Amino acid sequence: MSTVLIVEDEARITSFLTKGLKAAGFVPKVADTGRDAIEMALLGDIDIILLDVGLPDIDGFQVLEQLRGQGVTTPVIMLTARASVADRVAGLEGGADDYLPKPFSFDELVARIRLRLRPREAPAADPGVLEHRDLALDIRTRRMRVEGQWVDLSAREFALAEVFMRHPGQVLSREQLLANVWGLDFDPGSNVVDVYVSYLRGKLGKERLETVRGVGYRLV
Ligand code: CA
Repeated sequence: MSTVLIVEDEARITSFLTKGLKAAGFVPKVADTGRDAIEMALLGDIDIILLDVGLPDIDGFQVLEQLRGQGVTTPVIMLTARASVADRVAGLEGGADDYLPKPFSFDELVARIRLRLRPREAPAADPGVLEHRDLALDIRTRRMRVEGQWVDLSAREFALAEVFMRHPGQVLSREQLLANVWGLDFDPGSNVVDVYVSYLRGKLGKERLETVRGVGYRLV
């Protein structure tokens, strides 16, 4: 099931969308400020974002700009009452995938969501290789291509690289990495995650794995 993040401050609209999307088989989540939306989108597990322009803190265009600036590639459909050509152009140039002026019909919204989700749900041409920008991770040989050169990874480095490559642009917490790479559902109080991130940085280049202070790490 696909998770839809609804970014909208009007309770009447979020309640209508939440009910409708659940009935249509989606998992809706709601953010009622721009900052909450950015936080939720960065933490991942969102398949598509419905983004209202008018929000109480920062507007939808600023939210979009920050998300794209931080490497979040989740499809975004902008929703706005301001059905002007200028808004439409700003939304698409800012990295929105689609644009829907209010009032819209719910059926049309669902059709647009399905259209934007489809390419991501299609299986990759070669599922044995995960690619992100100029990085590629070969699942079978457990090697990573960095700027055209294949480098060998240890078993743990490979497992860590795989988690990052499956969630590019998302902030992964130490807890998530411990669970996925080491199978631990608790923090053993060691700095094992940081140590392995530094090993991986040594092979991929330091700048590719960004430290998000107090939260975790992100593949940029
Ligand atoms: Ca609004």
